[in-house]
Amino acid sequence: MALNEGQEEIHVLMVTLTAQGHLNPMLRLAKRLVDEGLHVTLATTQFGCHRILKAVTTTTTTTDATNFMSGIRLLSFPDGFNLDYDRGANLDHYMESLAKAGPLNLSNLIKQHYHRTKLSCIISNPFVSWAVDAALENGIPCAMLWIQPCSLYAIYYRFYKLNQFPTTLISNMIIELPGLPLLHTEDLPSFLLPSNSFGGVFKLLSDMFETIKKYKWVLANSFFELEKEAIESMTELCPIRPVGPLVPPLLLDQHQSLDVGIEMEKPDETSLDWLNKQRPHSVIYVSFGSLAVLSAKTMEAIATALKNTKHPFLWVVKTAGQLPLGFEEETKTQGLIIPWSLQTKVLAHPSIACFITHCGWNSMLEALVAGVPMIAYPQWSDQPTNAKLVVDVFKVGLKLKAVPNGVISNEDIEECITQMLSGPDFEGFKKNAAVLKQAACEAVTSGGSSERNIRLFVNEIARRS
Ligand code: UDP
Repeated sequence: MALNEGQEEIHVLMVTLTAQGHLNPMLRLAKRLVDEGLHVTLATTQFGCHRILKAVTTTTTTTDATNFMSGIRLLSFPDGFNLDYDRGANLDHYMESLAKAGPLNLSNLIKQHYHRTKLSCIISNPFVSWAVDAALENGIPCAMLWIQPCSLYAIYYRFYKLNQFPTTLISNMIIELPGLPLLHTEDLPSFLLPSNSFGGVFKLLSDMFETIKKYKWVLANSFFELEKEAIESMTELCPIRPVGPLVPPLLLDQHQSLDVGIEMEKPDETSLDWLNKQRPHSVIYVSFGSLAVLSAKTMEAIATALKNTKHPFLWVVKTAGQLPLGFEEETKTQGLIIPWSLQTKVLAHPSIACFITHCGWNSMLEALVAGVPMIAYPQWSDQPTNAKLVVDVFKVGLKLKAVPNGVISNEDIEECITQMLSGPDFEGFKKNAAVLKQAACEAVTSGGSSERNIRLFVNEIARRS
């Protein structure tokens, strides 16, 4: 416990949406703060609160649940839409509307629940960055948990705040930034490119970096040893303190610790039995996270490539209708197709050889810490940059060729799989991943870089209380 006996209670409010990749890192940080003796409440939209309560199958019927998990309390605020409104249908519009309604609704929640209890800190993430305004209006210091690589933080900061980019970004430009590998235009986060169709997210990030000094602390779901140069490049500008990786403790060999991560979809548990029957390091795991939707042509190319390479595969396909007709039947002795996996258990399974991934940051951290080499097939947002990190910085995998018309061929995928599993680099990728896993485990143990950052943060909040 970091707090001294007799010291005043310290209350922290965390604000997040409930996308799988946003919620779990926040919950894992919440759990660390609870372990340090802090009182932590998670606030999300009423819609998100319903999703959480459904996922943890509590019998609670109210939207304000106390101690819903490991001492973490749950509160909710309206997002301005009916519960049955399809928020994913136009995500950009939803995020924009939420940024308008969010600050007032969150402020009301703070006034209602913290008029007698002192709130010492609010922690938001980049996708609810408007929470900082509600925090400051109520005189509460705010921290951000950055949930992408620190390298992305450095890129966005230099783009939005320092204007260190060419005025027009055209194809094949080379961008040189401190602490980062040379980036081609195509390696940049998609929100910065002229082709970006998510104006609302661009504005959200732009507003956040414009006013970044409103945050007292910027924490990150990463660890110092993984992104040393990028982190150090920000020290003099606007420091970022890694406190991760915020992945299930089991992946970090912390077998006694409880994981507070929530499965927002119902996972298929039979796949672990299926994996038990496969040879060690033989299975290709394929998943593109919770949001990406691939075109029918791309799905067909992946299916054909998997079939032709003849390796066993485990493929997460959210809607069976996305697969070519007859594919599942034709490959039933070779592979398994499931709607949602227990991904961290899958990645830690000894039969997994490599991971074809969209390079969502959570998936990438999980694969790194599980020591699994990756074939990167980025789609949007931070993923193109993350893919660059996989290949050129972490050196734990390959990237599928970008194609001018956007549709990859099955031959290109097959070539990449063969190069990964039969090429000379496979052992090197595994070795590099093993080194990073070791560094991650050390970062989160007592005296490690992330642990020190968490304690520093807690002590700073405690001093202000
Ligand atoms: N995930 C999972 N099962 C699946 C697919 C994904 O548990 O079948 C989890 C995965 O472990 C990760 C999260 O969903 O923690 C996805 O987050 P990420 O940042 O990788 O991608 P996003 O979904 O945000 O694009």
